[in-house]
Order: sequence, then structure tokens, then C-alpha cells
Amino acid sequence: MKSRIIYGPILSRRLGRSLGIDVIKRKDSKKNCNFDCVYCQLGHVDNMVKAPENVTGAVTTKEVVEGIRSFHRNIENLDYITFSGTCEPTLNLSLGSMILGVKQITDQSVCVLTNSSLVDRDDVRSNLAEADLVIATLVSGNEDTFRAIHRPVEGIRLNNIIKGLQAMKDLEKCPRLGIEVMLVDSTNGYLVNSTDEEITKLIEVIKTIDPDEIEILTVSRPSAEKFIVPVAEIRLKEIAHRFGAELGRDRVKLVLKGLRRERSSMQHENLGEEVYDLILRRPCTCEQICASLGISSAQLTPILEKLISSDDIISIVSKNGRYYKAS
Ligand code: SF4
Repeated sequence: MKSRIIYGPILSRRLGRSLGIDVIKRKDSKKNCNFDCVYCQLGHVDNMVKAPENVTGAVTTKEVVEGIRSFHRNIENLDYITFSGTCEPTLNLSLGSMILGVKQITDQSVCVLTNSSLVDRDDVRSNLAEADLVIATLVSGNEDTFRAIHRPVEGIRLNNIIKGLQAMKDLEKCPRLGIEVMLVDSTNGYLVNSTDEEITKLIEVIKTIDPDEIEILTVSRPSAEKFIVPVAEIRLKEIAHRFGAELGRDRVKLVLKGLRRERSSMQHENLGEEVYDLILRRPCTCEQICASLGISSAQLTPILEKLISSDDIISIVSKNGRYYKAS
């Protein structure tokens, strides 16, 4: 099944109704990233992208602008246009011109979700400066834990990331900066970031970055590694309370699973492709697909059956229900 670079809208726990843009397109890899996070919902890949200069299948600004021009008119009530998907968006060095291109055809707010890996580069920070909102991941203030959770390509160091995030505030055109703290637990004693010592260190580091907002969340979909599990809600609340006490309650958001939103209202051009495009970027339950695309389960069922029989997707059962993901 061929995929398009624009997908969704996704009903996001954080961003509301968000239309996604994927800026690297490769048929031979299910994700294009310089990290291989233990919690990644897209699964594990051996071949990581080393640097922006090594990217193959980079999408162009023209492709993004044409995609958005034909797609966003079909959808009502969008909250954000978001660069994310199956890749780390900052690996595409045209990101800044893509954001400017999108802004020329719509007044929609633009968000970039980044793993922060390249934020120490001046060119990457300049690209991010064009967005309205940048949500940058930071899971730990300790190098060992950072490496255990993200498993980055060689050459990426936590200290450089912290310096890069601190430098975001010096940008002439500074987007709103959110730090995403993805907390994980494990079933086998693996190094995780939800202990008291980890939280103390992380708060200390985030104070030096001084972001506009901090989002505390845990995994809600099946992780790349089976031993990685969500942090219990009671512990998440304790941690969010500590962050709030130290960094200001108005800046700290606890993002819990299961927030319900209204269905999307959109006109469909090719529903089969739209369902696949969504699942490729984000494993979803039937209910989530129906709500995102504004369709009924009667419309969805035959599409899922066809995608499964052609081996484009698989279904997996987790604690939170049956998910469909790209195979
Ligand atoms: S979670 Fe994001 S940053 Fe981590 S491996 Fe997956 S796509 Fe890359």
C-alpha cells in the first residue's frame, strides 16, 4: 500500500485535532529516526539514520505545500498542523522552509514534535524557530538513563541536547517551547526514569532550560520492548505534583490517557489510504481510527480486513485493547 506524507487528523491527547506531516518517506523502513527508543510505538529498527546529511527519501517543501493545500480544506476544526510521523522531523533540513510554506497557505498553528537530538545545531534551531510550538522530548538528566531509554546513534550526547534546548530561548523568533517528559517503568529492572533520583535530576536540568510548558506522560500504546510498561497513574500524579511545586503549576501538564474528543468532520477522497496513512504513523484501536477520521465501525471493518489480508497491517492485543499497526 502506498502512503502519503499528510495523515490524520489524529485526535491527540496533547494537541487536540492535529493533521500530521511526515517529512521522510522510505519504503524500506518503518521509521526514520536517529533514536531507537525502548518505548517507541513504531517498533524497533536496526538501521537508524545517522544525521540529516545521510537521509534518503527526504520530502521536499513543494510536496508538503501541495499536500497541505489539497488536504486541509477537507477537514473542519483543526487545532494544529504537526510535523511528526514515522521520522524525526529535524532530520530534514528543509523543515524551516516547509513550515513557512504551510503558513503561506493556512493560518493554522504549526507544531513540531522533536526528539531533541539535533537541537544543538544552529541550522536545526533556525528551522524550529519558524514553528508556533515546539515540543521537545527530554527523558532524563543523566547520560546513562538517556542512552538506555533512547538508544541513540553514535555521537549524540545528552549534554549537547541540554545546551541546545537552553539556546532555544535565545532565538530571535522564539516559538513556544514545551518539554515532553515521557516516563517509563519496566518489568525486569531495566534502567528507567521514574525513580525519585531521576526526577530530582530532571527537574534541576529543566529549570536551566526554562520552557513555557512541561508535559508529563507515560506510554499508552504497545512499546518497542515488551519489558517497558506505563508508569502507574498514582505515581504519575505524584511526579506531576513535584514538577508543579518546583517549576510552577501553571507550566506543568499531566497528560493522562483516554481523554475523549469529538469526532473529526472531514470529507474523504480515498478512505482506504487515509486509514492506512494513519495506522502507519500511529498504532490505533478501531475506536481511535473512527474518531480520528469521523467514520463508523461499519465503514472501517472491511477496510481493516482488506489491509490485514494484504499484509499491510497487523493487529496486536495489549492491556489497552486491540491495536492495528503497520506490518
Ligand atoms: S519514539 Fe520517536 S524518537 Fe523515539 S525511536 Fe520512535 S520515532 Fe524515534
